[in-house]
Amino acid sequence: MIKPPNYRSLHLFAAKSTPKWKRFYTQNKKKMEGMDLIVHALHEKYSSTIDCLQCARCCKSLGPRIEDKDVDRMAKKLRMKSADFMAKYICIDEDGDKVFNTMPCPFLASDNYCTIYESRPKACREYPHTDRKRFYQIYHLSIKNAPTCPIVYEVLEELAK
Ligand code: SF4
Ligand code: SF4
Repeated sequence: MIKPPNYRSLHLFAAKSTPKWKRFYTQNKKKMEGMDLIVHALHEKYSSTIDCLQCARCCKSLGPRIEDKDVDRMAKKLRMKSADFMAKYICIDEDGDKVFNTMPCPFLASDNYCTIYESRPKACREYPHTDRKRFYQIYHLSIKNAPTCPIVYEVLEELAK
């Protein structure tokens, strides 16, 4: 298992394994629909052993897509009006989605804690998606997430064994 500080080289490990992960999908396409239980068990295994506070790579490099309900919840937490929160923290990306206007995330503290944890966006709650139903539908998206997230990397590695 890759541990910090080697997360800095995760993109290299992931690039090396990507052909193997793609081959696994092609060879097991018909069985992928029945793999949720295995993938979810791997998710539990690695999300309980990898410490997100030692990592925070998603908060530092990925912009979660933000929904209107997220804006209202975060604004309420900060005792701001939603319009003021939008003006201060949100911009629209090239796909027309709302995202935070700075990266790393403006709510990431120096100790890697999320300062609005209970009110964080839905996309942050669901990341890295390896416990999602019908995982096969986001298998290829997970390959794209693996260079960022060690949980995704380890799940794909063990799944392909
Ligand atoms: S990138 Fe993955 S392991 Fe790192 S903090 Fe985010 S969810 Fe946790
Ligand atoms: S809101 Fe919190 S969990 Fe989401 S990216 Fe920012 S610091 Fe990370």
